[in-house]
Amino acid sequence: MSPSSLSSDLPAKQAGAPRPDLRHDWTEAEARSLHDLPFPELLFRAQEVHRQSFNPAEIETATLLSIKTGGCPEDCGYCSQSAKWKTGVKASKLMQIERVLAEARRAKAGGATRFCMGAAWRSPKDRDLDAVCAMIEDVKAMGLETCVTLGMLTPPQVERLAGAGLDYYNHNIDTSRDFYPEIITTRTMDDRLETLAHVRAGGIKVCCGGIVGMGESVDDRISMLVTLATLERHPESVPLNMWQKIEGTPVMRKAEPTGAIAFARLVALARILMPQSVVRLSAGRSAMSDEAQALCFLAGANSIFTGDVLLTTGNPDRDEDAKLLNELGMRAMTLPSRLRDHDLTSLSHCGRRRAIPTDGFASKTP
Ligand code: SF4
Repeated sequence: MSPSSLSSDLPAKQAGAPRPDLRHDWTEAEARSLHDLPFPELLFRAQEVHRQSFNPAEIETATLLSIKTGGCPEDCGYCSQSAKWKTGVKASKLMQIERVLAEARRAKAGGATRFCMGAAWRSPKDRDLDAVCAMIEDVKAMGLETCVTLGMLTPPQVERLAGAGLDYYNHNIDTSRDFYPEIITTRTMDDRLETLAHVRAGGIKVCCGGIVGMGESVDDRISMLVTLATLERHPESVPLNMWQKIEGTPVMRKAEPTGAIAFARLVALARILMPQSVVRLSAGRSAMSDEAQALCFLAGANSIFTGDVLLTTGNPDRDEDAKLLNELGMRAMTLPSRLRDHDLTSLSHCGRRRAIPTDGFASKTP
């Protein structure tokens, strides 16, 4: 039997409504004990949890486009796009909608189910939102899920994005509360959490994760995940980024490479703390071997960015990803099954909310 026929025997992804037994009261001590388990035991537990909500042979694929690059007034110490650092990234204006739509079509043709658009702003201006809302509406009309990351938002701005049909808002907390001031001084962790609360209150799904390898301790990494896992509702998407060297940024001076096993431990912990969230391998995947990525999939990662660029850094090309998934007998999630699985809400592309009925996936997998 070929790997692909094996994976097609498995049921579709099974996440439905938030399970009543999800925990939101994790402590850092509990999370540390899980993180420090013998590696085989940690992976076994993560795999058990993974199978309760997801098909372990399925991977979500999203594509990320920078719609406004560089010149950002924030001082995130890891970022090539901050105007404070000399990284060689040239600031550009907001991309024309036709170009964005052409990229979205390319992403869809390449198999992506979600199209994420990132703008290097502290927060968007109202006239920027007019253009971004038009992009969201047109990308949704192509049958793609939409995600944007635009910086801090006010409740009226969230309302506008929700009205345009936005599915996800990305706003990473980046690191632990204690390490935060070492990395960013132009905003606080609480500013970040405030925007996340506005996004949640506005009915948009949350994509929120962080970065490792910036000189933080293992406790900082665990604390970051506990912050996410103790939110009133877990983020639907948790992107985990491995910091890649970017010359000219302050993090270059304190960064330390993260090994594959250390990263897989974090993936497994995210999987256990937030069983129904999609855990995404984000930046840094181009520096990971196939074996390291496979280890992360075993630990419960079930989403990747596809496409050869991630904002301003490299990413494996689509053919390499397809080859790896094929070799592992895994497959990309398809949008219809994803939409069936999420009983939250969706939006018709005129912007009015409509419920998507859940067809009550069973909670067991073989
Ligand atoms: S807010 Fe975003 S774009 Fe701006 S410096 Fe920070 S990470 Fe970079």
